[in-house]
Amino acid sequence: MTTTITITGAGGQIGYALLFRIAAGDLLGPDEKVRFRLLEIPQGLAAAEGAALELQDGAFGLLQHVEVTDDPAVGFDGADLALLVGARPRGPGMERADLLAANAGIFGPQGAAIAANAASGVRVTVVGNPANTNALIAAASAEGLPAERFTALTRLDENRARAQLALTLGTPVETVRRVPIWGNHSATQFPDISHATVGGEPVAAALEQIVGDVPAWLDQTFIPRVAKRGAEIIEVRGSSSVASAANAAIDHVRDWVHGTEDWTSAGVVSHGEYGVPEGLISSFPVRSVDGEWQIVEGLELSDFARGRIDASVAELVEEREAVRSLGML
Ligand code: NDP
Repeated sequence: MTTTITITGAGGQIGYALLFRIAAGDLLGPDEKVRFRLLEIPQGLAAAEGAALELQDGAFGLLQHVEVTDDPAVGFDGADLALLVGARPRGPGMERADLLAANAGIFGPQGAAIAANAASGVRVTVVGNPANTNALIAAASAEGLPAERFTALTRLDENRARAQLALTLGTPVETVRRVPIWGNHSATQFPDISHATVGGEPVAAALEQIVGDVPAWLDQTFIPRVAKRGAEIIEVRGSSSVASAANAAIDHVRDWVHGTEDWTSAGVVSHGEYGVPEGLISSFPVRSVDGEWQIVEGLELSDFARGRIDASVAELVEEREAVRSLGML
């Protein structure tokens, strides 16, 4: 079998980090062949073509073909998996409405091109920000495809949250489970430890012994650290997080295709779960079963959690309203 994978913005930083890992089998395993379709805007084509040359030089046994194009109909032709990485970054002096409008102008036509050209079972993961609302716009423009096929990446936030908990507890990261992200992939996101476990035991008790006042630590240290980690990386590294974002995108798609053992986080369409307005693409605790994301239902939410989720979801509602008021939804 060969899986056709479309990557938009493939000439950019995250695209560059994704391509070689996928070609090496990190996404679909050592037996699944892959075919790349790299979609760029005209000014990004040369960088994508350069990456394609390097892919040749990697002599990857799994890689069947690489197509570089700026035509969405060609870029999404037969796509089984689409990673929408390219997005318009916020420029100096750019208002939020301008950013939303610029991205609606990218993700609307891409949604339509996916519906017209991709494989009928296509699965779409939006990485480019504002990821949740970009996914919403793409889904709304993809006539005939269920909104469940459009997701936004919040796995990097979850990976960051699990890593911070593991560091604080002095335990290997794989022992920390069930740390879902709720809401928007933005500063309002809510990394939730209330159901988290370490080595199968509740995290809260173990944390109390180390940090003392757990609610204060969550509010003043943990949540801001996770939500602002991107800015921290920029400050220390001098440029934005790239390899960790690509790694999280691979985690997300691999789990969507192959299934999960436990909960993870993904921005998926709401059907009203946990009071999140229907149709929004919000991050939830999810499982992947038989190739589909399922929201983990029935979790009890504290007043603190409810307040945090409501605030992040309110931001998603505002973003949807802003795009609607521009006539782009
Ligand atoms: P990156 O590859 O570094 O980032 C791409 C997108 O991923 C940005 O929207 C960025 O958001 C987002 N992102 C999501 N999570 C993270 C994270 N944790 N850390 C950093 N970024 C994150 O950008 P480049 O500028 O290197 O590359 C973008 C490419 O996209 C260019 O080659 C450009 O030509 C192309 N492009 C393609 C389009 C298309 O195919 N139609 C449209 C627009 C651009 P944020 O901006 O918030 O950091």
